[in-house]
Amino acid sequence: MRCHTCARPANVEIRRSRIAFCAGCYPHWFRARVQERIDHDRMFRRDERVLVAVSGGKDSLALWHALTRLGYRADGVYIRLGIGGYSRRSQEKCERFAEWHGLMLHQVDLEGSEGFVVPDLREARSGKPCAACGTVKRYHFNRVAAELGYDVVATGHNLDDEAATLFGNLVHWNIDYLGRQGPVLESTHPGLVRKVKPLYRLSERETAAYALIERIDYILEECPMAKGAKSLAYKAMLNSLEEQQPGAKYGFLVGFLKQGRAALPGTGFEPAAELRACARCGQPTTAEVCAYCRMADRGRRRRERARPPAGVDPT
Ligand code: SF4
Ligand SMILES: [Zn+2]
Ligand SMILES: [Zn+2]
Repeated sequence: MRCHTCARPANVEIRRSRIAFCAGCYPHWFRARVQERIDHDRMFRRDERVLVAVSGGKDSLALWHALTRLGYRADGVYIRLGIGGYSRRSQEKCERFAEWHGLMLHQVDLEGSEGFVVPDLREARSGKPCAACGTVKRYHFNRVAAELGYDVVATGHNLDDEAATLFGNLVHWNIDYLGRQGPVLESTHPGLVRKVKPLYRLSERETAAYALIERIDYILEECPMAKGAKSLAYKAMLNSLEEQQPGAKYGFLVGFLKQGRAALPGTGFEPAAELRACARCGQPTTAEVCAYCRMADRGRRRRERARPPAGVDPT
């Protein structure tokens, strides 16, 4: 195949559009797609400050890279989740990326500032902390953005992530979640910062190709807690469908956003009049004490119980 832009031999094929690009032209195509979504979905303006939530993986670092190349004022935020060697290595990737490109990286150290780590939040039934980990991330991304005056938080969710989430919500008929799924979650309260997903129409393969060509050094290993996650099963099913029908994943997600979502209750834009400040941390919540503060208490209690008594050498 030949490059769609310059007709040289192509390296990256976009099967759903039946086009391909050489390594020189591909990053331009990728960034143009990101820019297109930012503008079309009104994610943010040039004068707004963007906070990119980074994990050390290809998607978030590729997003940060693309936004800075497109000329946006984008800083990063990384949460030290405390998942052993995986967290240390991913932190290193983020720090190196920020240093190499001369960018600002904010960090939240869960253990140091909150007194617990994500593995303390494992559920008894599944043995997984993923639901709680999601709450931790959402809480701190929003808190850091609000406290430091960022206009928007951008995450690296790609087409595969979003299609898998949609599939999971359909399998379980989570109508409320379906109604809220989208690339932009507007702020409904002064303490809630707008959330956007500029890569939502770009596949995991396309993001990986961008990271590879732009020589982004990202963490290849998956979080050890992800093993056996339902989202991986949904992704595998959608990938096998995509193999047979190129473009199926894209059509599934974009079709839903264009046609299906409008028919559902709850679009995520309703005024959240019932929100008030958490009595403990001051973040917006519907309860007296927010879900995060209650969960953090559990994490601290578990960590305390797991700690060996003073004077006892754990080795
Ligand atoms: S796999 Fe689970 S625990 Fe690991 S980072 Fe993702 S949500 Fe958190
Ligand atoms: Zn080319
Ligand atoms: Zn709180």
